[in-house]
Amino acid sequence: MIIESKDISKPVRESADVCIIGSGCGGGASAKILAEAGKKVIVIEEGGYFKTDEFESTEEFAFSNLYRQRAGQATDNLAVTVLQGKCVGGSSTVNWTTSLRTPDFVLEQWAKEFGVKGMRTKDLDPYFMRIEKYLNVHVEPDENHNLQNRIILDGAKKLGYRAKATGRNTRDCAKIGACGFGCPIGAKMSVNVTYIPDAVKAGATIFSEFRADKIEVTGSQKKVLGAIVDRLTQKQVSDFVIEAPIVVVSASSIFSPVLLLKSKLANSSGQVGKHLTFHLTSALLGTFDRSMYPSSGIPQSALCDEFLNKNGDGGGFWMEAVPATPTLAALAIPGFGGEHRKLMQKYPSIGATIVLVKEIDSEGTVTVNDYGRPSISYDLGSRDLDYLKQGLKATAEVQFAAGAKEVLTLHARMTSFKSLDDIEKKLARADWGPNEIALYSAHPLGTCRMGEDARNSVVDSHCQTHDVKGLFVIDGSVTPTSLGVNPQITLLAISEKSAEWIVENFNRIVG
Ligand SMILES: Cc1cc2nc3c(=O)[nH]c(=O)nc-3n(C[C@H](O)[C@H](O)[C@H](O)COP(=O)(O)OP(=O)(O)OC[C@H]3O[C@@H](n4cnc5c(N)ncnc54)[C@H](O)[C@@H]3O)c2cc1C
Ligand code: SF4
Repeated sequence: MIIESKDISKPVRESADVCIIGSGCGGGASAKILAEAGKKVIVIEEGGYFKTDEFESTEEFAFSNLYRQRAGQATDNLAVTVLQGKCVGGSSTVNWTTSLRTPDFVLEQWAKEFGVKGMRTKDLDPYFMRIEKYLNVHVEPDENHNLQNRIILDGAKKLGYRAKATGRNTRDCAKIGACGFGCPIGAKMSVNVTYIPDAVKAGATIFSEFRADKIEVTGSQKKVLGAIVDRLTQKQVSDFVIEAPIVVVSASSIFSPVLLLKSKLANSSGQVGKHLTFHLTSALLGTFDRSMYPSSGIPQSALCDEFLNKNGDGGGFWMEAVPATPTLAALAIPGFGGEHRKLMQKYPSIGATIVLVKEIDSEGTVTVNDYGRPSISYDLGSRDLDYLKQGLKATAEVQFAAGAKEVLTLHARMTSFKSLDDIEKKLARADWGPNEIALYSAHPLGTCRMGEDARNSVVDSHCQTHDVKGLFVIDGSVTPTSLGVNPQITLLAISEKSAEWIVENFNRIVG
């Protein structure tokens, strides 16, 4: 059953075996496993519930209803825009379908440096296989790549770089190009149309427009307390208390630490909110002499990962296409007034490619501000900055190889390349401080990291907090390092595995 705030007329008092906070990749997958094992599961979701035919496929509808802060969430200094979903299904409802397994070298690092147990490739492979089958992950045939993805496939191939079609979690995709607005035909196998309905079928209750504000622990019992909010005004209309012996915090890498810090829980290590990573992202905009349909067709279906961990230092970058929808493009395109207008007039012929950095020396922090909301900071390390510059250079080369006539970075001070010769000297002259170049993250991770040493991690290898038995964090916050691939498959696998462990050890955990 999915209950929305409009269905509620009085305070809610409920109890369950497991209360899960957040309905994205972490929360949704756990809810299904636990409910199908016969546990009484209640999921609390701050955002709204929308059926697929209610998604309007416009930026106005999507940003207003499905995204955190209307897609304007950012670090405190506004240097990095942090995109997250806020709706049933979480960020998966608005994500771009790229479905990749965690790289081997990353899982090895987790085991060796953080003592993480049972998360090596051989341990996660059965979960990856099961999830890929469940979500119909497949690569697209060659003719299905749109012109934006062709830039990567064709440009990288000409330069001899490794590029390939990526897995996508879709079934009967009609190539509408609205993945980022919620798929209007239910073709995207996101959590809102897979794990959540299956959890509900198995008896789970989902409360949407319910915001958890605090967790209280008394002995082995826990209470989740919060506000029931009106969808339109976001004002509190009532309150709720859910009692359960097991609470799973799946509010994402930005909001899970906020909840733990506000509740003063699970932070004896002082690590809650620390070690935030972003897959720091910027874009290159190539202008072509033909229409490139920047926001139509399948948004993301190919990548170039030639430069990921190329030096064996665990860092590097990869390239992907991006749905350059009009508002996102207008915000990203540099310049003001007439200059900006001139560039926007070229919008139909723009090919946009993003560079995502797998961080090795950058880190951010999430703390709680005076209003009880997240305060996000991020320090870009010198090695990652170097990889960002290398990534922009390599991507500009790929764009030219694919036929771009001119290539533009997202620097505030206009930086454009008319030929290959321009790239290095103009990047050397560019400014790199905060707010000098538009930066993004759709993959915030870390902040409640996993490890077996309770002194420098928040959760153990089963995602149970070291400090509080029966209190789990299962979402993007548990990754000990930056991932180097789009995160959804990793997070679903961690979630399914941890939820299975809860089922197997239920009596011991609550006893
Ligand atoms: C635009 C975009 C494109 C992306 N594209 C891809 C892609 O192609 N491939 C890929 O692998 N990944 C992609 N991602 C990332 C991926 O979707 C996320 O990494 C993943 O969904 C994170 O899962 P999560 O469970 O940590 O958090 P989320 O999925 O974000 O879910 C957290 C949920 O918790 C809710 N919540 C927060 N606080 C509270 C509270 N106090 N009370 C109740 N509920 C709360 C939120 O509203 C949200 O619904 C993309 C993300 C975005 C935003
Ligand atoms: S491209 Fe496919 S998955 Fe994405 S919105 Fe369109 S139909 Fe849905």
